[in-house]
Amino acid sequence: MAGTRSGAMKIPGGGASAPRKRKKSVLSSPRSRRGERRLDGKTVLVTGGAGFIGSNFVHFLLDRTADIRIINLDKLTYAGNLDNLSDIACDIRHDFVRGDIRDPKLVRGIFENVQGVFHFAAETHVDRSIVDAGEFIQTDVFGTFVLLEALRASPKVEFFIQVSTDEIYGSRDRGFFKESDPINPSSPYAASKAGADRLASAYHVTHRLPVIIVRPSNNYGPFQYPEKFIPLFVTNALEGKGLPLYGKGTNVRDWLYVEDNCRAIELVARRGVVGEAYNIGANDERRNIDVARRIVKLLGKDAGLIKPVADRLGHDRRYALDCRKIRTLGWKPAVPFEAGLARTVKWYVENEEWWRKIKDRSEDFKAFYETYYAERK
Ligand code: NAD
Repeated sequence: MAGTRSGAMKIPGGGASAPRKRKKSVLSSPRSRRGERRLDGKTVLVTGGAGFIGSNFVHFLLDRTADIRIINLDKLTYAGNLDNLSDIACDIRHDFVRGDIRDPKLVRGIFENVQGVFHFAAETHVDRSIVDAGEFIQTDVFGTFVLLEALRASPKVEFFIQVSTDEIYGSRDRGFFKESDPINPSSPYAASKAGADRLASAYHVTHRLPVIIVRPSNNYGPFQYPEKFIPLFVTNALEGKGLPLYGKGTNVRDWLYVEDNCRAIELVARRGVVGEAYNIGANDERRNIDVARRIVKLLGKDAGLIKPVADRLGHDRRYALDCRKIRTLGWKPAVPFEAGLARTVKWYVENEEWWRKIKDRSEDFKAFYETYYAERK
């Protein structure tokens, strides 16, 4: 990485000091005179930028904005992977910092040097949160609190994008969740994300901080850790292993191609209104069983590979978002599910070395997968 660093980064002004007042102009006029915030010429912090969506987002920003500098803060948990960033190792616009969002001194130092924040870092796997929720509370809630405290002390930061999730709303059989609907999370993961979402909102209301919340639906695409539904099924099928489908496979998700999500998040940073939340979904609902069948078909494999297993505890039946609000900013999804899935399957076929390194050589992956699914047979 350009300037890949491990641990604390030498940044001036990193010490603790009392929160300073924000200039009124930032509060009352979140947009520039041209009607939107500019990202070019800015330095932004991306947290969790070695993970799935974060690394796609870092690539998206570098492709889209010539004159941007990104500080990528990532702890490199089991889900963080520097292979996701290897092609930008020599890009001087990207600085990787290995560190924890829960480290106030490190975070404060970075905030002194950025004008915008995209906060992706989190523990993200629902199944892991069912087994042990501790890290989820620590990272997703407490980690977000540390970032918000740093934001309080950094009046030059113009926007803070809190990456939340559709899962905070809980399940519904019919209709679509609007941003103003009550939240009702079912899993410890969703509850920890809901805590972070509400904390970010409270810091806006109480301290007038420039927080904007995004709530994307289920993402899929390249570089997704192979414990998640689509990459697990694609890679298991390639290995000739069973595809462990929860229950009857009738749970419904609204699938969003990761590049469409990145485009939406960048647009919200430029045009979103401070203090608001934006749902991001493709309104492309699929039952899990249909996704599984489509994957085996694309790979020319036998549907007999799909093996029903005991359902996930507290499994939400359906997520569905009303996305009219983000559409008013000028966003709509560009990649239909069939095309996005074909692209994703092709990526995993062509990048076997990437996922084999995880599935064959990561002790963490093997330990979790084997224990978790052994209990579901
Ligand atoms: P991921 O698990 O692939 O990546 C998470 C990244 O965060 C990893 O690189 C990890 O090393 C890093 N991280 C974890 N704890 C950290 C800490 N304490 N300090 C610094 N870095 C840390 O996750 P993802 O799927 O890319 O999700 C990114 C964000 O988007 C999350 O906030 C998630 O809740 C949200 N989201 C994801 C989806 C989805 O479908 N994947 C949908 C909606 C919202």
